[in-house]
Amino acid sequence: MASLSCQVLVAGGGIGGCVAALAAARAGARTMLIERLAFLGGSATAAAVGQFVGWETARGRRVVAGIAEEIVQALVARGASPGHAHFVMSTGHRMDRVSYDTEALKGVLDDLMAAAGVEVLFHAQFIGLECAGTRITRCNVMARGTSITLLPQVAVDASGDLELLAAAGASFLPLEPGETMQPATTMFRFGPIDYAVFDALTGPELKALCEAGVAAGALPRAALHQSRVPGGDEGWFNVGRVAVDSTDPFALSRAEAEGRRQAYAAAAFIARAVPGCARGRLTALAPQLGIRESRRLCGLYVLSEDDVRRGTRFADAVAAGAYPIDIHPAQGAGLKFETLGEDHSYAIPLRCLIPRGIDNALVAGRGISASHTAHAATRVMPGTMAIAQAAGVAAAWLAQNGGRACDLPADELRRTLAASGALVP
Ligand SMILES: Cc1cc2nc3c(=O)[nH]c(=O)nc-3n(C[C@H](O)[C@H](O)[C@H](O)COP(=O)(O)OP(=O)(O)OC[C@H]3O[C@@H](n4cnc5c(N)ncnc54)[C@H](O)[C@@H]3O)c2cc1C
Repeated sequence: MASLSCQVLVAGGGIGGCVAALAAARAGARTMLIERLAFLGGSATAAAVGQFVGWETARGRRVVAGIAEEIVQALVARGASPGHAHFVMSTGHRMDRVSYDTEALKGVLDDLMAAAGVEVLFHAQFIGLECAGTRITRCNVMARGTSITLLPQVAVDASGDLELLAAAGASFLPLEPGETMQPATTMFRFGPIDYAVFDALTGPELKALCEAGVAAGALPRAALHQSRVPGGDEGWFNVGRVAVDSTDPFALSRAEAEGRRQAYAAAAFIARAVPGCARGRLTALAPQLGIRESRRLCGLYVLSEDDVRRGTRFADAVAAGAYPIDIHPAQGAGLKFETLGEDHSYAIPLRCLIPRGIDNALVAGRGISASHTAHAATRVMPGTMAIAQAAGVAAAWLAQNGGRACDLPADELRRTLAASGALVP
């Protein structure tokens, strides 16, 4: 059994894990990232989300930059993204968007990791750990049939479902009465689309088409959301809805098959009924189901719905978001999408990244300590990347200076983040 030490171990190479690892390595920490798939990006590539939304307020005030913006510029330089753009949603809300080629993002992330000196171990599944008191001492990984023991000074859980923190005995937030976990979606690529026709569809026309698709049992939700593949005439459609707890492997397996079934049914309807799509067909399925919500950490502070609505200010704020509250109900075809004001933004405190009772671990990505409703706003990728940059900088500081995560110097970290181009509220 191989055994390797590192200063910062990032478990999970989704967009959150990648940004955390980059930030930690650039801060001077010997950083290793493990990813169970053969490529980086997580939902951004493996679930083919295809667009970053939530960079700015509706009025256009930017709240996210830093490494997230670097990734956008690297995509633009490859011709894999048109960069920052806007669109008007069927609700009338003006939304910012960076659409990107999901394959190109894999290459961009590989290059950024290599340049920063992050050691990436693909095909590496985190399977367990050992603790000494309140510190994680060993992480066990299975990679290509080989058992590897990693000895990190600090661990960052960026696995989305927070598998590492679960194994370390961290606490997670329950759903409150009346809340259900957001459903998952299998994205699918469809084309060719005559975008001159498709983009000319009016709000009422789209609404009528969505209602017809739901009534026919072909659209699980009343939406024809899609992001155009840059430079092409195909789009990634986001219209499926599968209620699943992704931490249950048997339920997840059934959900993967159901997601694909929904994708084919929706594609057939789109080709049959949606103007501009008659020549199109489903050309690719996302490699895996996209998970919106699973475990949410119970950290030193729980970001509440009220904090998001009011834009509560925090002395230890390390990231900001401006994306609305976007809840996909598990049942029915509706959507709860609630805008919060023309120039509204909210802050995420460092304490939301720190588990209770574990001294050398942090969370990066969608599983931060936030209520179900607050998470519905913070979960999108620009905010996720801003949070992850803070997690990486904090992890490096902890590895280099020692001590406990709960004692991290927020003021110093805020200054470090701001100096590196992040927007710190
Ligand atoms: C269908 C859908 C549509 C969305 N639409 C948008 C949108 O339009 N715009 C937007 O900005 N955001 C959108 N989001 C939200 C956003 O994509 C996610 O919240 C975000 O990508 C989560 O990133 P993450 O890094 O936290 O987690 P993930 O992307 O889930 O990454 C976790 C990574 O950890 C790895 N991993 C897990 N367990 C292990 C293990 N045991 N060992 C090793 N590796 C492991 C996984 O393979 C994965 O690579 C959408 C999400 C979904 C599901």
